[in-house]
Amino acid sequence: MKPPLTQLGHRMSRLTGVRAIMKDIIETLSDAEVEWINLSAGNPVILPEVEQMWRQYGRELLEEPQFGEVVCRYGSSQGYEPLIEAIADTFNTLYGWNLTRRHVLITPGSQSLYFFAANCFGGVSPAGHSQSILLPLSPDYTGYNGACLDPSVLQALQPNIDRLGPHRFKYCPDFDRLQVDDTIGAILFSRPCNPSGNVIATADVERLALVAAQHNIPVLVDSAYAPPFPNLAFTDMDLVWGDNIIHCLSLSKAGLPGERIGIAIAQPELLHPLECFLANAAIHSSRFGQAIAAKAIASGELAQLSKTVIQPHYRHKFERLEAAFDRDMPDDIPWALHAGEGAIFAWLWLEDLPVSDVELYEAIKQEGVILVPGQSFFPGLQEDWVHKRQCLRISLTATVEEIERGVTAIAKVVERTYNKPAFAMAAK
Ligand code: PLP
Repeated sequence: MKPPLTQLGHRMSRLTGVRAIMKDIIETLSDAEVEWINLSAGNPVILPEVEQMWRQYGRELLEEPQFGEVVCRYGSSQGYEPLIEAIADTFNTLYGWNLTRRHVLITPGSQSLYFFAANCFGGVSPAGHSQSILLPLSPDYTGYNGACLDPSVLQALQPNIDRLGPHRFKYCPDFDRLQVDDTIGAILFSRPCNPSGNVIATADVERLALVAAQHNIPVLVDSAYAPPFPNLAFTDMDLVWGDNIIHCLSLSKAGLPGERIGIAIAQPELLHPLECFLANAAIHSSRFGQAIAAKAIASGELAQLSKTVIQPHYRHKFERLEAAFDRDMPDDIPWALHAGEGAIFAWLWLEDLPVSDVELYEAIKQEGVILVPGQSFFPGLQEDWVHKRQCLRISLTATVEEIERGVTAIAKVVERTYNKPAFAMAAK
């Protein structure tokens, strides 16, 4: 039966952004004849020390008298009290934020938090005018695309490109393009950024927050990779706090993606509509994961393992990837890696690329390597910017050996493509 979908039903039942290309990737990887090097994955690596910590707290919970209270009963939509307490205490101790219990909201994964926020703050206002969700620096997380019920709500700005050396660069917000007024409902960005690994400078975050505050606009800082957990920042970064900031965490990259835990920290009046949206959509987050997270956070162990195990694991891989690119890529081709400031990806820009990123992805596939073409990572950017078709995202979740072999293959295809673009396209 073909159900009678609404316009919204049609929109939400389509795969958007990177999920569309993921279908091709999954089909490709299922070809058992080829031994693929998979540099596409967004799924974090299962690190034994981290898995063991979650196992130990899970086991403890199973033996405790409150187990039944945790999983055999409904709880509050705001979240499991001991987790809320552990978060408030941790941020007060580490950053001196003066949070009360009312400053914390737990959501079923941070993706749902962006969904609630994008539709609470983006769309048609009671007065009838449109409010957009502004991404001040594109590229950014492709999942924001699917979070907006009305796709026209998402607006993104082209960044400035800072050249840091012959083969390195960094994106920075272009404040000349930033116009904040009451047509904007919220500002949103990831820091560290998926896909580029960019960490927007603290002064730039403060400037964005200040401009937004002047217009009563909330700023959502997607901290899925930030300190204190999973602490996937390879550069010093300060967390920015203020009355209009919604600081958004995720425990997914801290080893708990299956338990779906997102955390919003903000003034209670900003969290209230999100909590009601959550209550309407899902009642509350699952409580087993919240209960073991409360233990791991209150004991300080999650922050500790993030610093000593999770961060070094990916930082080391980025360094090896960077060295492999410097070794294998031809110097006379205008390739550039984004500064590796955090997250679990590397981002390669191929200026003046003679084919599109998707054509290059296809040619690299012929060498047994799968990565993600960059064009899915510009949600909300309307302009036809050639840069959108010149980038590739490379995951740091494969082994070092696979990453190095993958880079060698990428370099070979890139060299061939610049020298003989027709040849690369024929390889499809
Ligand atoms: N934000 C960013 C930047 C991400 O990379 C991801 C997942 O990869 C998410 C949010 C969603 O994370 P989750 O819903 O698992 O918390």
